[in-house]
Amino acid sequence: MSTVTRHSAPRAPRAMDRYVKGRTLGEGTFGVVHEARVEATGERVAIKKIRLGKLKEGVNFTAIREIKLLQEIEHEHVIALVDVFAHKKNLNLVFEFCGGDLEMVIRDKTAPLERGEVKSYAMMTLRAVAHCHERWVLHRDLKPNNLLIAPNGCLKLADFGLARIFGSPDRRFTHQVFARWYRAPELLLGSKTYGPGVDIWAVGCIIAELMLRRPFFAGSSDIDQLGKVYAALGTPTETNWPGVSALPDFIEFVYVPPPNLRDTFPNETDEALDLLRKMLEYDPNKRITAAQALEHPYFHTKPAPIPYEQLPKRFVAKEAEANAAAAAAAAAAAAAGDEEPASPASARQPKTGEKRRLEDTTDSTDPNFRPKLDEEDRESLRKRKGALDAAFADVDGDD
Ligand code: AMP
Repeated sequence: MSTVTRHSAPRAPRAMDRYVKGRTLGEGTFGVVHEARVEATGERVAIKKIRLGKLKEGVNFTAIREIKLLQEIEHEHVIALVDVFAHKKNLNLVFEFCGGDLEMVIRDKTAPLERGEVKSYAMMTLRAVAHCHERWVLHRDLKPNNLLIAPNGCLKLADFGLARIFGSPDRRFTHQVFARWYRAPELLLGSKTYGPGVDIWAVGCIIAELMLRRPFFAGSSDIDQLGKVYAALGTPTETNWPGVSALPDFIEFVYVPPPNLRDTFPNETDEALDLLRKMLEYDPNKRITAAQALEHPYFHTKPAPIPYEQLPKRFVAKEAEANAAAAAAAAAAAAAGDEEPASPASARQPKTGEKRRLEDTTDSTDPNFRPKLDEEDRESLRKRKGALDAAFADVDGDD
């Protein structure tokens, strides 16, 4: 018989206690993201807090999908999920910390973006997307502010809340995905049987935006979006896109012949324009794949893509500013006797999708760092696992 009585055993520390929570970093569609430090190591992380639905509403499948998919697609250019734990009625996803995103790089007009820099961001994005597609994962929300940038300059594809497994030819998905400016024409025309080409179109728009330093197709409605795309690339026809007129939301537009892309991109090389044309091909069946794009001469002619460690740290000054403002606000709140001082970030909650700018002073991350789930987390997740696995199978499709 055991001499150890259960109640005398020390209680495992709560998972939440492993982290010292900091200010709000941003807010996505499905949860607030906080900066935090790992108590034991001082390592900086980002914790996304997702409210689990009330039992009668079912659990939040966005969170479960994000966890499941991220576990399957570990890659240098995909954000690392380092820990998951439940706390009160929330599920917390702990990610490696990133100090900026590609939107900040594009909007920073203090210095021109060199060709080698654009190539480097394009290449890292395509590597991440090629890796996802190899594993049958569609991201479905590619846009500059979902491409985060780690303190060492490495780009990381993030926010897998809309991602799905693809592969079955009959699989029907919702077409209400992607921010409008990055939405492929087949989605704008209501297709529900799309594939990896939707991610490629979005990457094409992002590369064009890096070159132009403004969004290529900034539509204000779905119709306006189609109008902007057709004005830049010409109206699609049954000749260059067989089946287009049979798509559910097809509408006839006045025919515009394809204009010369060089007029919009006067300073780009022929290779750059050729790659853009292939990524922004109307017919998704003819659109270049991520793996093929990485083989394109654009990436193999001079100037070479700049290694990410050597990329200019374009957002460091802004981050330092944000950090100083947060420290000043915290000090002022503490002096006023507030229990929980509101950081400037939380005081100015962004609209969904708006990105917070943050400071990062940590050195590059330790590649071996992987906080583990403790017994309390395991037990709580184990309890849900059976029900979730069954339910997940039911909701894996969209329709
Ligand atoms: P998401 O819900 O993934 O779109 O995240 C919402 C916002 O939180 C993002 O726009 C970023 O500003 C911030 N954020 C998300 N993940 C991280 C991270 N790993 N490091 C730093 N900030 C992040």
